[in-house]
Amino acid sequence: MRYLVVEAHPDDLVFFCGGTIAKLVEEGHEISVLTVTDGQGGTMNLRYDTEESLAAVMRQEHGKACACLNIHDVTYLGEKNHFVEPTHALREKITRHVRKVQPAAVFSFDPWNFDENPDHRAVGLAVLEACSFAHMHLFHPEHLQEGLSTAIVAKVIQFKTPNPNTFVDISSTLDHKIRAALAYESQIELMKDEGRLRLEKLGMRHPIFEGEFADIVAMTLRKMAAETGKPANLPAAEAFHVRGLGILENAREVVGEFGI
Ligand SMILES: [Zn+2]
Repeated sequence: MRYLVVEAHPDDLVFFCGGTIAKLVEEGHEISVLTVTDGQGGTMNLRYDTEESLAAVMRQEHGKACACLNIHDVTYLGEKNHFVEPTHALREKITRHVRKVQPAAVFSFDPWNFDENPDHRAVGLAVLEACSFAHMHLFHPEHLQEGLSTAIVAKVIQFKTPNPNTFVDISSTLDHKIRAALAYESQIELMKDEGRLRLEKLGMRHPIFEGEFADIVAMTLRKMAAETGKPANLPAAEAFHVRGLGILENAREVVGEFGI
C-alpha cells in the first residue's frame, strides 16, 4: 500500500510515528513524506544566525533520519516555521501533493489535540480537508489541467491524538526509531537547553539536563512507547486515531476496522 506522511517539521515523523513507519517499510509498503516547514526557527543556539543556516542543518538531519528508515521520497513545502496557518493556500499545496503521490492513507497530526505548536494544528486540519476533497475534479481543477489526476484517499491516520483507536506494537522497531531520532542533534540540543533553563526559572536543577542528553532522549522514547502501549497490553506502542474518510467513517461498524 502507498502511504503519505505529512509532517509540520522535519523531526515529526520520526518522533510521532517512526516505529510504525519503520514497520511499514519493512513490510514492503511505499512511504512518501511531505515536510511543510524546514523547522528553521527551532533553536536557541546563536551559532545559527539565520533561518537558512538552521534549515540547512535540519535538512541534513532529516536526510540522515529518513535514510535510516529507508525512506527516499521526501518533498519540502518551505513554509515558515511557527507561522503555519490552515489556509486555503496550504490546503491547495497539500491537495496537489496528494494527487501526485496517490496514497491510500495519509498520516498527519490530529488537529483536535491540545497542542502548543500552531504548525501541528494547522497541518492536521489542512491535511484532513485536502484528503477529503482530492477526488473531486471540480476542486482545484487547475491541477488536472497540469496533468495530475484526482486522488481517492481512504483514511487518515492521526498521531499526537487525545483519542486513540488504534495501537501499533513497535517493540521490533523501537531501536530503529531511536537510531533515527538521534540524527536530530540540533533538536536534541534545543530540548536540553529549554529544559535546563525552564527548570532554572523555577529555582531547580536536575542532572538529566547537564549530562549526555542523547541517552535521555533514547530513554524517554522507550518510556513513552511503554506508557502508550499500556491500554492495549503492548510492551511498546504508538497510538493513532484512524479516521475513515466520508461515508467510510460512518460505515466502519459495517465494514470493520481499517487498522493501519
Ligand atoms: Zn513538530
